[in-house]
Amino acid sequence: MNIQQSIENIRKEIPENVTLIAVSKTKPNEDLMQAYDCGQRVFGENKAQEMKQKHVDLPKDILWHFIGHLQENKIKYIIDYVTMIHSIDSLKLLKEVNKHAVKVNRIVDCLFEIDINNEESKFGLSENEVRDILNSEEFKELNNVRICGVMGIGSITDDREITREEFKNLKNIFTSLKNDFFEDKPYFKEISMGMTHDYDIAIQEGATLIRIGSKIFGARDYTKVG
Ligand SMILES: *Cc1c(COP(=O)(O)O)cnc(C)c1O
Repeated sequence: MNIQQSIENIRKEIPENVTLIAVSKTKPNEDLMQAYDCGQRVFGENKAQEMKQKHVDLPKDILWHFIGHLQENKIKYIIDYVTMIHSIDSLKLLKEVNKHAVKVNRIVDCLFEIDINNEESKFGLSENEVRDILNSEEFKELNNVRICGVMGIGSITDDREITREEFKNLKNIFTSLKNDFFEDKPYFKEISMGMTHDYDIAIQEGATLIRIGSKIFGARDYTKVG
């Protein structure tokens, strides 16, 4: 199946309130342009320099979502154009993003990455860690970042009930943070969850942003990238 057909098929499946992020990491510009030519404008990347190069090369109405682990020394490659950073996993990183955002005079939308999966995972915060950040005095001084919601990555498993529980958990964390910290903040509305193998469950459990790569662009070949 080609890229355009895949996008059309996914679009038929997803409700209007869910945004499809086409995850184009490792893929060449020609592939992104095929998606672009059938109207796709929202793309996701997980490497800052790769995203920067694609931003430079491709049409400027593309909305770039950064979904990978973000190292502080790479913030400079994304800060002046990124639409949303999904992977805030410490107060330190959030402060650093804020500092760069001040320099370019932007308010940058961010999500907290929550560790929802039952596997050993390197990144992501617990709900309590997020609460500690939101309660801190330092957080209140960060005027150039805006927290718009949460992001999570489900376990790699064939047991769809495990995945469903993880997504339910993320939705519950979103709701409790919304109630306690963001009740009067309409921009706190995003739940980023669901990839190629589990986006159908994610939508059922309340995802607003789904991140789909291989189902659109085909399997990734990591032997070709540096
Ligand atoms: C690569 C990636 C995706 C997309 O994965 P697919 O299984 O190819 O759909 C989604 N989210 C994150 C964080 C990723 O790194």
